[in-house]
Amino acid sequence: MGETIRLKCNDCNKAYDLNIGQGIKDNSLDRILGYFDGVTSDMISRKLSVLGTKKSWSFRRMIGYCSSCRSFREIPTFHIFEDQKEYVTATKCQCGSTCELIDDNDTDAMGSIICPECGGKISSSITAMWD
Ligand SMILES: [Zn+2]
Ligand SMILES: [Zn+2]
Repeated sequence: MGETIRLKCNDCNKAYDLNIGQGIKDNSLDRILGYFDGVTSDMISRKLSVLGTKKSWSFRRMIGYCSSCRSFREIPTFHIFEDQKEYVTATKCQCGSTCELIDDNDTDAMGSIICPECGGKISSSITAMWD
């Protein structure tokens, strides 16, 4: 199940609701690859076929910050694990820019999110679960 996370500025009260994590529908590789553009999904497929039986991957939606839109987005990300390393491929913002990813499991990162509107501190809370 995924989570709906609310990012809210303590100063100006601007809030962003984002669906992050992994939904029930996000369990088929074909479907997941459909979230990425053609070039990117080909690259992921090639990487997985090179890894063969050693392949290990996961998918989840992460919080992204787009500095062009000055807004937070839910960003589908594909994670490939190889030799103890993790390679993350993220989709872009609708505007075509690359978002800065914020790991919701990283308390330091989550505690230092700054409001793009006023520069205030943003707090986060889980407001719902989704499939
Ligand atoms: Zn603010
Ligand atoms: Zn953008």
